[in-house]
Amino acid sequence: MICLGIEATAHTFGVGIVSDKGGVLADARDVFRPKAGWGLIPIEVASHHKEVWQDVLNSALERAKLSLKDIGLIAFSQGPGLPPCLKVGLEVAKKLSSENKIPIIPVNHCIGHIEIGKLQAGLEDPVTLYVSGGNTQVISLIDDYYRVFGETQDIGIGNALDKFGRETGLDFPAGPKIESLAKKGKYIELPYVVKGMDLSFSGIVTEALRKSKNGIPLEDLCFSLQETMFAMLTEVTERALAHVGKNEVMLTGGVAANHRLGEMLDVMCRERGARFRCVQKEYSGDNGSMIGLVGMLMYKSGNIPKDIDIKPRQRTDDVEVTW
Ligand code: AMP
Ligand code: MG
Repeated sequence: MICLGIEATAHTFGVGIVSDKGGVLADARDVFRPKAGWGLIPIEVASHHKEVWQDVLNSALERAKLSLKDIGLIAFSQGPGLPPCLKVGLEVAKKLSSENKIPIIPVNHCIGHIEIGKLQAGLEDPVTLYVSGGNTQVISLIDDYYRVFGETQDIGIGNALDKFGRETGLDFPAGPKIESLAKKGKYIELPYVVKGMDLSFSGIVTEALRKSKNGIPLEDLCFSLQETMFAMLTEVTERALAHVGKNEVMLTGGVAANHRLGEMLDVMCRERGARFRCVQKEYSGDNGSMIGLVGMLMYKSGNIPKDIDIKPRQRTDDVEVTW
């Protein structure tokens, strides 16, 4: 069977084509870039997706050397995400489904990241640290649900980095720029905010911006933001690992591209005798293949939800893992 997955939760419109035999056959995407100094304005991102969806779809089909006639299932990301963007994904999925008489299946975006990550990284049952623009969660599979062991109580770590960058004149996305500036910085104390197993980032950004206005060099703030926030993530991941008694850690999401974060987690895992894997960049960011993969897993296990709609606030632990 061949499944076409559609991703449209935020900045990326992605189409992935996966087969139950050959894995990912093609993956195409187009990422919205906001104007300098602006964040993601949901309505603008949705217009972008409406403009590009057909081209992204065509290029995925071309790369896979397939046509819609070959597709047996259409999966789309139903949440969590920005409602106007999610609606574009839903509408494209419904249109393709009704015009070509292909069944349709709704998929949780975060579970998409976890399943494609496991496939790519060759892990079986990891504790996952999922760090992206909008999401920050420590997740592991227990009794048929991907349980959230710790998460942000305010903004995702990527958004926190991007917000700091926006206010200090760094282009979007700021994460990579902060990483390179951090190489020249030294440590300045910032608030370290772990509450039980949960995290909070927005106050740290506020304090870093206050220090920036008071003349603390940008390099030092970038270094200290990374050291502080990544240590918080590593602490919570370690505690989750100890609690569930597993021996694999997987890092995924857009912020997984950061070498310093990978290094801290790697050291923690070595000290505990656990395996650490970072999902390769191609599949750690948002993509359609991860949606197609989970759609196929759900379908084959007979998990075919009747409710074909977006769920902007759907949680990772709302979805039963039936595969
Ligand atoms: P995603 O939402 O998964 O597509 O991830 C996008 C987020 O990843 C943005 O907030 C980026 O700033 C962040 N990001 C990308 N590369 C890096 C990096 N090298 N270090 C830190 N954050 C990064
Ligand atoms: Mg994501």
